[in-house]
Amino acid sequence: MTYFCTLASGSSGNSAFYCCGRQRILIDAGKNVRYLSSQLRRLGMGVGDLTHVLITHSHSDHVSALPVLLKHSRAVLVCSYDTYAAVAAKLPPDPPRILFEPGETLLLGDCPVRTFATLHDAPGSCGYAVGEERERVAFCTDTGTVTAEIFEAIRGSRTVVLEFNHDEEMLKHGPYPYPLKLRILSDRGHLSNAFAARVAAGLCREGTETLILAHLSAENNRPELALDAVSAALEKAEVRAEVRLAPRDGMCDPVYF
Ligand SMILES: [Zn+2]
Ligand SMILES: [Zn+2]
Repeated sequence: MTYFCTLASGSSGNSAFYCCGRQRILIDAGKNVRYLSSQLRRLGMGVGDLTHVLITHSHSDHVSALPVLLKHSRAVLVCSYDTYAAVAAKLPPDPPRILFEPGETLLLGDCPVRTFATLHDAPGSCGYAVGEERERVAFCTDTGTVTAEIFEAIRGSRTVVLEFNHDEEMLKHGPYPYPLKLRILSDRGHLSNAFAARVAAGLCREGTETLILAHLSAENNRPELALDAVSAALEKAEVRAEVRLAPRDGMCDPVYF
């Protein structure tokens, strides 16, 4: 059985799980191992069952559990060369790993994984489109914009996890210091609701059936604003999709293929 779910989403930690045949793939490890174990247990899995750990980039909300996780499992670390260079000093020496330049396509067991560069303030940051065509999940968070290359890499994925980080008005009028606001709004920061909603409508025109709204800011967004933005964009484009929110702490309902 092939299925996917997010395990945590937001600046306090990100992780997701994709199970396909013999491959048990964790995408990002930004919560502690106890938390990840308790979520995986609900799926009948443990960290010892993981075959691969894919990392999008080196920010702590995506890698904080990695040093301990690699000690407790034989999972192969999968990340870009630049991400590895940024995190290697904290990891056990010489972990089993697959390194790549974003843009390359990998084969993990029999599971194809397309990698693509995201625009973010971490070297080698990337996203992933995991799985065979009708079981493909694209994971696209922590990017300041969606380039033509990103769209090309994720289009046609049946499920897409897409960042709906902030409402622009809430961010502009909110409590963050001005330089941080500029960083988030830049094209190396995070996606706004309005931008992500337009991308989501484009994806649904290309066959995406399930959208999972992810990495919502606790300070600069509200779930109903993200949901309103996406439903307005889908309606305008005259397309439909099942829309889910990735909870900050806890898993989303698994998507079964
Ligand atoms: Zn993040
Ligand atoms: Zn980040």
